[in-house]
Amino acid sequence: MTINFFTRHADKIVPISECGCWIWIGATDTGGYGQVYCGRLTDAGNKVPEGAHRIAYEATFGPFDQSQHVLHRCDIRSCVNPDHLFLGNQMINMQDMAAKARSCCGENHGMTHLTNEDVIQIRTAYAAGGITYAEIGERFGLKPSTVGAIVRRQSFKYLPSSEETNTAGVTP
Ligand SMILES: [Zn+2]
Repeated sequence: MTINFFTRHADKIVPISECGCWIWIGATDTGGYGQVYCGRLTDAGNKVPEGAHRIAYEATFGPFDQSQHVLHRCDIRSCVNPDHLFLGNQMINMQDMAAKARSCCGENHGMTHLTNEDVIQIRTAYAAGGITYAEIGERFGLKPSTVGAIVRRQSFKYLPSSEETNTAGVTP
């Protein structure tokens, strides 16, 4: 069922070379975990969203005890790189979170801290011209390569480019 998870959702997964995280840029829940529909239904027949990282784990390592948590070594909740995932219970989760002062990319990672508005601002700033990726990066605390990926829509594809935003008459 989930064999093709990574290829099927390739457009929603952005690898970050700095830390190796595969960031899920599709829908997320309020906690920041990726959400995906895999065909499971409630008794009423409604689709049930599932944690993208859980499905990523299952797709890679096979079915697991669903009472277990799928935890992140990298502390990036939207990461779906199976190499960064491991099984544990809530107790391990709490200890793990307490033990980690910082992750490999943590605060420097930036990607998960950007709001949709930030992304649109970045694209608008670059489209206006006269500013480099590095200068924009400095303003938002991002690496120039990350800014480039946002401008070229390799990340945050689901948000419109600045031109599309202007055409639609939406104020960034
Ligand atoms: Zn990760």
